[in-house]
Amino acid sequence: MTRLIDLCRNNLYTFDENLIRRAFEFSWNAHVKGKPRASGEPYFSHPYEVALVVAKEIPLDDISVAAALLHDVVEDTAYDLRAIRAEFGDGIADIVDGVTKISGAVESHEITRAENYRKMLLSMAKDVRVILVKFADRLHNMRTLGFLSSEKQKRISKETLEIYAPLAHRFGLAKVKWEFEDLAFKHLNTSDYEYISRKLNAKRREREAYIRKFIQPIKERLNADEYRFEITGRPKHIYSIYNKMVKRSKPIEEIYDLFAVRVILDTADKNDCFSVYGVVSEIYTPVPERFKDYISVPKQNGYQSIHTTVVGPEGKMVEVQIRTKQMDEVADHGVAAHWKYKEGVKESDRKLEEWILWVREILEQPAVSSGEEAATSFLEGFKLDLYQDEIYVFTPKGDLQILPKGATPVDFAFEIHSQVGTHCVGAKVNGRIVPLNSKLNSGDQIEIITSSNPNVNPDWEKFVVSRKAKAHIRRWINEESRKKAADGEETWTKRLKKHKMTLTEEELAKLLRELKYDNAQKFYIAISEEDVDADQIIARLTQQKSSHAAGESSKPARTFVEIARNASEGIIVDGSRTEWKISYAKCCNPIPGDEIVGFVTMGEGIKVHRRSCPNLSRMAASAKERIIDASWPGESSGLFVAGVSVSGMDRPGILTELTHSISNYQNTNIRSVSAEVRNAIFESLIIIYVKDKEHLERLIDKLKKIEGVTRVDRIQGQSV
Ligand code: MN
Repeated sequence: MTRLIDLCRNNLYTFDENLIRRAFEFSWNAHVKGKPRASGEPYFSHPYEVALVVAKEIPLDDISVAAALLHDVVEDTAYDLRAIRAEFGDGIADIVDGVTKISGAVESHEITRAENYRKMLLSMAKDVRVILVKFADRLHNMRTLGFLSSEKQKRISKETLEIYAPLAHRFGLAKVKWEFEDLAFKHLNTSDYEYISRKLNAKRREREAYIRKFIQPIKERLNADEYRFEITGRPKHIYSIYNKMVKRSKPIEEIYDLFAVRVILDTADKNDCFSVYGVVSEIYTPVPERFKDYISVPKQNGYQSIHTTVVGPEGKMVEVQIRTKQMDEVADHGVAAHWKYKEGVKESDRKLEEWILWVREILEQPAVSSGEEAATSFLEGFKLDLYQDEIYVFTPKGDLQILPKGATPVDFAFEIHSQVGTHCVGAKVNGRIVPLNSKLNSGDQIEIITSSNPNVNPDWEKFVVSRKAKAHIRRWINEESRKKAADGEETWTKRLKKHKMTLTEEELAKLLRELKYDNAQKFYIAISEEDVDADQIIARLTQQKSSHAAGESSKPARTFVEIARNASEGIIVDGSRTEWKISYAKCCNPIPGDEIVGFVTMGEGIKVHRRSCPNLSRMAASAKERIIDASWPGESSGLFVAGVSVSGMDRPGILTELTHSISNYQNTNIRSVSAEVRNAIFESLIIIYVKDKEHLERLIDKLKKIEGVTRVDRIQGQSV
């Protein structure tokens, strides 16, 4: 504990000792009951070590150290995020939450395309400190990897090498990156790792002697010129040597830059670096093409230094790096050190917030590619707002899919395959069934439930966001429309034939205008979907023609068509006005005033039947539980379909008289009329729109009074 407190006091930008102590105690108490680490140590040793790593190697602020102490509490103890939020507030709770989520998303899947994982990780971390704590967590896990099974060692090492090391580089955390790489390499390719490290050790004395010899004249000159400086020569890390061997296909003996000499100047003046470069160049001949000035043009991650390669004693090539102390600290601690050196910063949270935003901006800049920085190229070619625009989700097998932000399970389904999209009926997200329009989040695992038949809902178009899903749904709707229009046209032609009627193109165009259809396709679709009734329209046309012949003007067709279209909207079933789709059974056509019940259908919501419907009593016999109470609302403004059969003695004009009689009574609209005469007996079925039962009964009374009419009955269905 004292060690952590001391490190914090010396290294952190903001330091609240009380906060660190509280986090320490909370974590200790939470983890005390947990199982020990694979190493046999109590579990708490892990978060404690992680906090030490943050304080020492990625030092930033006390919040990140406290979050490090608490980072496994949610995952591994009985305490949940709410407990942390209550005790430590949103800042720390959000970091712990981010670390937990990243662990869940990245570490539960086989890595197939590492660059996507790196992007996912960044998309999930709203606060840069989430990543810093995750680095520390991973570093400690890598250092204690030896205690795990070799299979686990390999998996975790691969993840570290492919995801965390490039990210650490991106953050400018050179030391962390090297350690990630060397530890991972050690477990992934043990024989090559050991070969290189044996070779480095064997030549150690020789190398150290050479470095001393190389450094000596430089040291003397710099002392004489009164520079304050440090000069060292260290071997490069093993993984980078291995990569050089592979890249140049040369044995280790022929790799000249196994080590680099580093001159670190204790000065604030960067021009001193160039002066020292001049001094080195006077002593040893430089190789011009290997000079790099990262001071004038820093690397993407903020790294600044002069690199030069010179010809040393015995004609050997030696790389020399020259930089200031501040630049050196940035090279090791990256973003964390930037903060420390940012000009004019006062100790305030607001400033820290600004700084975190600034880091995000840096990270989200597309990387400038240079040969040596291939590792950072994963950010190339992406927009600035990359991480706000995309989410990263998984298939049940753990494959990663990238979707635009706001994507839904339907977007995901079409992303997998158009067949999955068109057959999608439901979705599970992280094992739970969710509505198809739910928004997905990075890290979600999605399973699409499909049916054997296509099931595209045109409404999907309203909420999908991916271009792929939109295009497929549109295409599907167009294809369906084309099919429906063809069906509707066939129906229309058949009905015209049946009524022995022909329409010229002009007459059809006139009809479409009257019915307010933009084109024939829309009209045919309406017929196919039974939005309009072909027979009814034909009947109307017949009526119009005969009315014209009789010199009377008919009611405008418009009114009647509008009502025909609105008919299906109907009314609401009372009780609790449910979310269910309500429709009226065509077998009995209930109207307000009738006693009614609801019947819960498969997939068509609730159908309202008359209580007296014979069809209903048949269905109820086998599925009583699907019958529910229903009643009319106190008042309704809709119109309802009802059918009456009228019979009597035929006489000329009786049909016209019937229809006029209906239209004249409260402007009642007729949906369709059919009539036939057999042995001078006239029989007609008339489908009308009524307000309620009373309306219908009055009308029936009226019809009964027409000369020749002997019988008028309400019928169950609308079998016209
Ligand atoms: Mn951990």
